[in-house]
Amino acid sequence: METILFLAHTETDGTLGRPAREALTAARQLAEAAAGAPFVIGLLGANTEPAAAQVAGAGAARVLAATDERLAQPRYASDALAAQALCQAANATVVIAPATARFNRVLPGVSHRLGGAVDTHVSEIAPEGDGLQVVRWFYRQRLRGRLSRTARPWILLVDPGCFPAWTGESGAAAAEAVSVAFDDQPLRTEVTGIKAPAEDAQTIRPDADLLFVAGAGWTKQQADGQAHVPEAERLILDFLKLTRASLGSSKSLVEIGGEGQEVLSFLTHLNQIGQTGATPRHPKGLSTCCHGEEPHTVGWRFITERRAINLDANCGWARGKADVLYVADAFAVMRRVNELLAAAPAAE
Ligand SMILES: Cc1cc2nc3c(=O)[nH]c(=O)nc-3n(C[C@H](O)[C@H](O)[C@H](O)COP(=O)(O)OP(=O)(O)OC[C@H]3O[C@@H](n4cnc5c(N)ncnc54)[C@H](O)[C@@H]3O)c2cc1C
Repeated sequence: METILFLAHTETDGTLGRPAREALTAARQLAEAAAGAPFVIGLLGANTEPAAAQVAGAGAARVLAATDERLAQPRYASDALAAQALCQAANATVVIAPATARFNRVLPGVSHRLGGAVDTHVSEIAPEGDGLQVVRWFYRQRLRGRLSRTARPWILLVDPGCFPAWTGESGAAAAEAVSVAFDDQPLRTEVTGIKAPAEDAQTIRPDADLLFVAGAGWTKQQADGQAHVPEAERLILDFLKLTRASLGSSKSLVEIGGEGQEVLSFLTHLNQIGQTGATPRHPKGLSTCCHGEEPHTVGWRFITERRAINLDANCGWARGKADVLYVADAFAVMRRVNELLAAAPAAE
């Protein structure tokens, strides 16, 4: 019988972020399906108390915590030692963890130290006899495979957006402290600060509830015979500021800069969605001024509810690609949407 460990690092405030709570749902579902399998929670961070309280109602037989100031920083050496100690303390045979940047970097090394195996981009986990089967994506989410392994512990990094985030009652939880042999290894890396683009310059937000896609139409001649790129920029940036949506783009829009046309200054190829771009996961998507051709919409396959605004009632979105198509001028619609959003009381 497997021993299932849900492993998570805390955020700076000591709580679990959404990707961790999604992985917790995956771990609980597996523990419930494999009735009787021991289910353990392992937490690591500088402060684990809030997270332990958050998972108090998750039904784990044990909650283990590696708590140390040296785990405040995402650093390979300290994270690997703590994760290894938690896996060993739990006697885990299956470890389910969120595929955060921090864990994607460190858990493959931990699986090597433990003589086990690791799989990334996991989207489904199902029990199979005494073991389990996993569905994961390969080759930039273009190939889907179902597999099982005999190596243990088997570490599974669950992609964000595949499971609902766990929202159970929090309560009082006494976590068992797990000591980490930090002295066994020098911690040479020290994070002295973070240099990041300004909040508004960072337009790709994988955790956003909404993907907003801008197509080439925003830069094209409009009904008055003129292009209105500065207004398009303002409308899109205002919408992103008001909603914290993630910004995607069509290939045409990011490429027309090379043809000497005026383009939206904040877009790069990293925003591109589609066959030769990204395939993000968001609950909702809104496409604007984008034709909805197959090489673009193939990048929408993990967008649950899709809407599009296009002047052309015959565009690609109308052919089964969108749930709702608004046949309208996106300039007029987004102007009005921004007015309504600005007037609405701020969300809690
Ligand atoms: C091998 C290959 C790979 C590709 N990979 C990708 C990819 O990864 N991603 C990708 O996006 N594309 C990809 N493409 C290109 C793709 O086929 C399309 O050419 C591209 O998506 C078109 O971009 P668009 O819809 O923004 O522009 P356009 O086709 O120019 O469409 C602009 C749209 O804006 C609408 N519009 C204009 N003004 C307004 C307004 N005021 N209000 C509302 N609507 C308006 C127009 O009606 C039109 O439908 C690939 C192509 C090939 C051959």
